[in-house]
Amino acid sequence: MRKQIVAGNWKMNCSLEEGQKLASEVMQLMLDEVQNETEVILIPPFIHLSSINDQIPFKDKLLIGAQNCHQNESGAYTGEVSASMIKSCGGSHVIIGHSERREYFGESDALLAEKINSVLKNDLTPIFCCGERLESREINTQESVVGEQVRNALFHLSEEQIAKVVIAYEPVWAIGTGKTASAEQAQEMHAFIRKTIAEKYSNETADTISILYGGSVKPENAKEIFSQSDVDGGLIGGASLKSRDFIDIVQAFD
Ligand code: PEP
Repeated sequence: MRKQIVAGNWKMNCSLEEGQKLASEVMQLMLDEVQNETEVILIPPFIHLSSINDQIPFKDKLLIGAQNCHQNESGAYTGEVSASMIKSCGGSHVIIGHSERREYFGESDALLAEKINSVLKNDLTPIFCCGERLESREINTQESVVGEQVRNALFHLSEEQIAKVVIAYEPVWAIGTGKTASAEQAQEMHAFIRKTIAEKYSNETADTISILYGGSVKPENAKEIFSQSDVDGGLIGGASLKSRDFIDIVQAFD
């Protein structure tokens, strides 16, 4: 059985007060309404990790994570945050390779491979993002683009290590645009990613890896997307900033 996961990437949003309010609303709604076994992860900006972690009374179903980390453990890297620091603040997950990091901060596949190593070395779970840009989708090269991203960043891992990775398929053209991949498009790409992993490792390992979909997921479309056989949940941006919408997305698994 694969884990069902809904992770909320707050990006560079929320003051501390706003973040604490959002986190407590999410917690309350989870306590009041959520019956399913979905693992819910809040991913605030680094600076709020510790205080939001302290707010969470139940750590079995509600976890916190970070949006990025540096590839090294410590040192003279002004402005950066390491995986071990995230762990020390209570984080359990780290997003690696979000398209905004690739695009605005020039993060290469080779760098992402190093970041993945650092996250795993600290016993944290990487949420590795991959996804094609609109130009690739238009000329139907999404599989080769995503296949290469997965191979370059993950295929140096042992079978035991890759089994610990969560993958998020996030077509760049669907992130923050209001355009969602259709449920069929999501299923096709998730099945392709799983097959790519099975070919390098094994069917058993590929079958244990949770693959999340990300890109304008909302309460209105979550149910259809999550009902696809290779979709194991979502990485949610905009809708994770509204507690009601975020919890309605978690409830889409019911
Ligand atoms: C994201 O940033 O990972 C994301 C999927 O954003 P949105 O849901 O806003 O498209």
